Amino acid sequence: MSGFNTRAIHVGSEPDGVTGAVNPPVYLTSTYAQDGVGVPRFSDYARVDNPTRAALEACLAGLEDARHGIAFASGLAGEDALLRTLAPGDHVILGNDAYGGTYRLLTRIFGDWGLTITTVDLSDLDAVRAAFSTSTKVLWVETPSNPMLNVVSIHDLAKVAHDQGALLVVDNTFATPYLQRPLTLGADVVIHSTTKYVGGHSDVIGGFVATNSDELAGKLKFHQYAIGAVPGPLDCYLLIRGLKTLGVRMERHCANAREVAAFLDGHEAVERVYYPGLASHPGHDVAARQMRDFGGMVSFTLKGGAAAARKVCETTTVFTLAESLGGVESLIELPSAMTHASTAGSTLEPPDSLVRLSVGIEDIEDLIDDLTNALI
Ligand code: PLP
Repeated sequence: MSGFNTRAIHVGSEPDGVTGAVNPPVYLTSTYAQDGVGVPRFSDYARVDNPTRAALEACLAGLEDARHGIAFASGLAGEDALLRTLAPGDHVILGNDAYGGTYRLLTRIFGDWGLTITTVDLSDLDAVRAAFSTSTKVLWVETPSNPMLNVVSIHDLAKVAHDQGALLVVDNTFATPYLQRPLTLGADVVIHSTTKYVGGHSDVIGGFVATNSDELAGKLKFHQYAIGAVPGPLDCYLLIRGLKTLGVRMERHCANAREVAAFLDGHEAVERVYYPGLASHPGHDVAARQMRDFGGMVSFTLKGGAAAARKVCETTTVFTLAESLGGVESLIELPSAMTHASTAGSTLEPPDSLVRLSVGIEDIEDLIDDLTNALI
C-alpha cells in the first residue's frame, strides 16, 4: 500500500481477526485478564496500552512516514510530554508566531521548571542562528503558523538546528500529513493537535507526537504511561475515522480556502490577507515546494481596525464564532482576544484587527455570501 488515502483507510484498520469487522474495535477496558501473576494476555493496564490506541498510532505514524507515533489526550499533552524529555536549564527557540497555548506552556509551566525560551522570526535564518546558545536543545516551528500563516523552509531550519546539535520540532497541525511531511524534509519530531484536521469534525480533543528516533520514542512512550495523559479508546476511534477522510477533506478545505482568500484579497474593507496560496504571500514559493497544497486556514486584517474585526466575527452566520479549527464546519475568531490572548504583551501577540478563518467544506457560494454580508 503506497497511496496516502489507501494507507489512511487500511493501516491499523485491517479486518478484525475474529469477526471480520472492517473497523477496529473500540476496546472499552481499563485492564486485561492475566493467565498467571504478571502474565497478561495483551498488556497489564490500559494506560500502558490499548488496541484501539495502537491502531491510531500505527496509522498516523505511517502517514507521517514515522517509525514511531505516540498518542496523547490533547495536543498540549503531547507537547508537555515532549518538553519533559528536556532538562531544567535547557533552552528552546520558538517562532515568533505560534499557538498561544504552546507559548503559555513554555513560559508559564516550563519556565518555572527551568527551561529558557527565545522567540525569533523564523524567516530570518541569521536571526535564528544567533538565537542559539550552548544549551539550546530544540528549535520549535509551526509552518504554516498560527495565526499569521507564516511559512518557513523545514529543510533550511533542520540544517540550522542540526548544525547546532539541536532537534527540529515541527507542529504539523495546520498542514496535516496530507499536505506536508516534515520528517521527510529533515525534521526530527512532528507534533499534532489531532483535535483539528485529523479528527476533522470538532468532536474530539487529541494530540500526537511522531519521530524516527528509537531513543526519543522510548522516552515518550514512558512519559505516556508514567504521566498518563492518554486518549480514551472512543476518542482514538473517532481519530481513526477522521484519518480515513483526511485526504478528501483537505482537498476541499484547500479549494474553499483558495476562493475565500481570493475574495478577501479583492475586498475594499480588507487591509491584508494572509494565505500561503496567494502569490503575494512571502512564503508562497517555499509553501509550493514543501506542501502539496496551501491549507484551509486564512487570516486577514481589516482597514477598520479592531472594532471592524470584532464586528465581522460577531456577524457571520455560516462561519461560527468559536476557537479551534480544522473541522468540516467553518469557524471565525479574533486571535488577539481568543486563541492567542495568552500572548498579550509578547512578541507573539497578533494584531487586534486580525481575523482568523478555518474554512470548512460547505458550499463555497454560502461561505462567500456570509463573508460578503459580514463585511458590509
Ligand atoms: N498546536 C496548534 C497549532 C494548535 O492550534 C493547538 C490548539 O489550538 C495546539 C497545538 C494545542 O492542541 P490541543 O488544543 O489539542 O491541546
